[in-house]
Amino acid sequence: MTLNIILLGPPGAGKGTQAARLEEEKGMVQLSTGDMLRAAVKAGTPIGLQAKAVMDAGELVSDEIVSGLIGERLDELGGETSVIFDGYPRTAAQADALDAILAARGRKLDHVIELQVDEDALVDRITGRFSCAACGAGYHDRYKQPKTPDTCDACGGHEFKRRPDDNEETVRTRMAEYRAKTAPILPIYEARGIVGRVDGMAPIDEVNAAIEAILG
Ligand code: ADP
Ligand code: ADP
Ligand code: ZN
Repeated sequence: MTLNIILLGPPGAGKGTQAARLEEEKGMVQLSTGDMLRAAVKAGTPIGLQAKAVMDAGELVSDEIVSGLIGERLDELGGETSVIFDGYPRTAAQADALDAILAARGRKLDHVIELQVDEDALVDRITGRFSCAACGAGYHDRYKQPKTPDTCDACGGHEFKRRPDDNEETVRTRMAEYRAKTAPILPIYEARGIVGRVDGMAPIDEVNAAIEAILG
């Protein structure tokens, strides 16, 4: 059965970490608009040039750009692929666009999983976040260290990187954007009876188990 799910939660809630686990364990594909935008910035495409300053400030890139990226990426996947929307939708307009994007492709949303976290923990999570420069695997200075120091568990790489927007000031703006524009879309999905809530403060394995229990 093909699944279409949204992982919803503020910056640092663990969306990317959990999406990677679902890719490994369930064969699902993660569609992260943040990753797509960072790739566009790196490649210097017109979208990347437009998005860079907005991302550095912790504000939201335009609805048209991100919904366009999601539609394109879905078209590259086969219709049978199960997908995880990570960091999308983030506004009511994006939630509407996603409904249309899915309907046009014969897909429907199965679950919206809200990762509930304590805001005080988020700055700590985000300022300690880093990833493998070669394969993108995600780590944390204290909560998810590589098994062998300075060596990526996934690919054996030795080079790591940090995001320019993972600093305390930008994180505060990103959290404010989440509260103002993203949290208000939850009631749309609650009315459809598809919201599942998970304690995002639990250890990574427990969060993963709780999500997989919802997916069945
Ligand atoms: P995190 O999950 O840590 O909050 P993301 O990687 O999802 O961060 O997003 C990084 C930045 O990319 C955001 O702060 C925003 O500028 C931009 N961005 C990503 N996804 C969206 C989206 N759906 N709508 C608007 N802007 C987005
Ligand atoms: P998001 O994609 O929602 O912005 P990430 O998945 O990148 O968040 O997680 C942010 C940071 O917190 C990463 O460094 C990650 O290793 C760490 N992290 C993720 N989930 C947990 C957890 N349940 N407990 C402790 N640290 C976590
Ligand atoms: Zn790696």
